[in-house]
Amino acid sequence: MLARARAAWRRWHEDRACRRHAIPESLWQLTLARYPFLRWRSAEQLDRLRRLATLFLARKEFSGAHGLVVTDEMAVAVAAQAVLPILSLDGGLNLYDGFIGIVLHDDLVVAPREVMDDDGVVHEFDEELAGEAMQDGPVMLSWRDVQAASGESGPTDWAYNVTIHEFAHVIDMSNGVADGVPPLADRNARQHWQEVMQTAYDGFRERAEAQHSTSIDPYAAESMAEFFAVSVETFYVQPLELQRESPQVYRLFADYFQEDPAARSAE
Ligand SMILES: [Zn+2]
Repeated sequence: MLARARAAWRRWHEDRACRRHAIPESLWQLTLARYPFLRWRSAEQLDRLRRLATLFLARKEFSGAHGLVVTDEMAVAVAAQAVLPILSLDGGLNLYDGFIGIVLHDDLVVAPREVMDDDGVVHEFDEELAGEAMQDGPVMLSWRDVQAASGESGPTDWAYNVTIHEFAHVIDMSNGVADGVPPLADRNARQHWQEVMQTAYDGFRERAEAQHSTSIDPYAAESMAEFFAVSVETFYVQPLELQRESPQVYRLFADYFQEDPAARSAE
């Protein structure tokens, strides 16, 4: 097909999906009221967010674990936040093509883990997860944590948004590796990204290890992939905090995601 014909065909398909899965106005307004950081954008961007959230609902399959019933309200809350980081990215929803399923649990999920220490002794422990994104796998989220992630009043002092966090991992993994480097245009862009992030990460780990207070969740010191995911959730939910913690990372993200939430949040 010719490129123009293909674009028109895609547009027609998307329009049809948007009509079939349209988010009712009252539910959309309720979602924007519950998650105020979604509103820090122009009317045009908000229209695009709604359209992307609608297409997301059309393409993905939600299920509830252990009998949890997934309501429209829950699905829209997840969809609106999940598409926020891809709002202005070239890849758009295609960055989420690696999976279809979203599994909601009513609360934290206990996952049995095993680690081997340096002496070869295996330690078993339970890890409590608010969310998990796996390569090519479904995205798991705790509904209680999705609800708690309205920005200002999270369960911690730091920005807390499990949905944006897990979808940041999905974007990171969409080029095959979870290394804190999302798909970028070319080698130069990758090199610049790695330099900025590595410098910021090294400085952050030093501060976290010295137990200095940090503006973003110290869990970010776990790995480069977690530093990326935590920084992305902070960028969208408490942008001024990310700017304070690491102005270079804020600028890198503002360029990449084509957003300036710190300017809008201060209005
Ligand atoms: Zn994570």
